[in-house]
Amino acid sequence: MVKRAVGVVAIVALLISAGMTGAALAQEAVTQVTQMAEDAGNTVCPVCNAMIDENDKVTAEYEGKVYNLCCDGCKETFLEDPATYAALADAEVAALQASEAAEETALMEMEAEEADIE
Ligand SMILES: [Zn+2]
Repeated sequence: MVKRAVGVVAIVALLISAGMTGAALAQEAVTQVTQMAEDAGNTVCPVCNAMIDENDKVTAEYEGKVYNLCCDGCKETFLEDPATYAALADAEVAALQASEAAEETALMEMEAEEADIE
């Protein structure tokens, strides 16, 4: 959530610095905001359990969240049964957050509060 806010601010700053003269640039910024809006944040492919390679990942959207997948084949499988795989990805993220909670308790509480607002 913090990451999203920073990204939006950066895009707005970019548009201001560019004087908003390029329609293509503006369109690209809008696309980036849309893609960043609801990142599920999973680091493991929910279809095959492979670690997601940030440089080679594909994404699929389900119920307003963008899930990370390791390859196009897994994306196809994801889209055949998105509810199941989205739940697996959400569970992975929840488990990851739980494991980090001990060292990042304060940060996690802030993020939880932001999640509640949304
Ligand atoms: Zn996969």
